[in-house]
Amino acid sequence: MIPAEVEYVRAGSLEDALDALADPEAKVLAGGQSLVSVLKLRLVRPRLLVDIGGLELRGVELRDGELRIGALTVWDELVEASELRRPALAAIPECAAGVGDLQVRNRGTIGGSLAHADPASDLPALTIALGASFVLRSPEGERAVPAEDFFQGPFLTALLPQELLTEIVVPPPPAGSGSAYESIEHPASGFALAGAGALVLPDGTRSVGVTGVSGHPFRLDSPDEAEAMLAGVDVFGDHFASAEYRRRLAEVTVRRALARAEQRREEDERWTA
Ligand SMILES: Cc1cc2nc3c(=O)[nH]c(=O)nc-3n(C[C@H](O)[C@H](O)[C@H](O)COP(=O)(O)OP(=O)(O)OC[C@H]3O[C@@H](n4cnc5c(N)ncnc54)[C@H](O)[C@@H]3O)c2cc1C
Repeated sequence: MIPAEVEYVRAGSLEDALDALADPEAKVLAGGQSLVSVLKLRLVRPRLLVDIGGLELRGVELRDGELRIGALTVWDELVEASELRRPALAAIPECAAGVGDLQVRNRGTIGGSLAHADPASDLPALTIALGASFVLRSPEGERAVPAEDFFQGPFLTALLPQELLTEIVVPPPPAGSGSAYESIEHPASGFALAGAGALVLPDGTRSVGVTGVSGHPFRLDSPDEAEAMLAGVDVFGDHFASAEYRRRLAEVTVRRALARAEQRREEDERWTA
């Protein structure tokens, strides 16, 4: 299908972008990998597209003791980033490497993925496990929202219409931690039927986020009892995977992610020594 007619502006600065977003019928365009399909299907019909692709919101850096990832960073940059080689953070490039194909990984941004909030997308579960927060900018200023409060439903987030997601902030785990991401993919789309991100701290504390099985990704409060916890989750089913099957896949991904995160703890100790 062909998208409906729409005005287009390319923002030259963050301020320009925020000014343009004052229009209640404006929509942000980043890499266009999700938005263009939605426009073609006319599921959204904005009056104005605000292209933020030229803004300097790109890259991975350690700043003020925190890992900061610009919202316009594309998947392949996460795969290559030297700041993410530590075994405690290895789940991030691992997750990014499994997303889509070459084009998607070179055009699609992580900010776009998080803001789009497809309930089957991979990274949200991991941001929850890692205790990340998202920096949201509006003309009124800046606020930080923890990943687990950001995702509110299918394609629904805490972002207000005039806000931009500018940065993802990850607290670096202490030395001797390990992380991993595991998913079981739909064979045609590559999206997660079930996926789990895990972080294991040196004292054995475990943190797990799950995606693909319900309206939005969520934290498993007691990862050691994944089976019991998932029993209480309202898991959806479709013609490809029933709710029971998806629940089972989720249990498997949680177990696998925790086991690999555990293995990486020793590697991280050596890495940081
Ligand atoms: C063929 C294909 C395969 C894919 N496979 C996978 C997969 O295996 N796993 C997976 O997780 N994902 C997958 N994806 C999804 C892909 O990761 C996303 O489409 C991409 O990352 C979205 O980023 P974008 O920059 O293209 O966003 P856009 O398409 O430009 O925008 C998406 C949405 O986010 C909003 N938005 C974008 N940036 C911001 C911002 N900074 N602040 C506020 N709002 C913003 C836009 O207004 C729009 O609503 C796939 C996509 C395709 C096309």
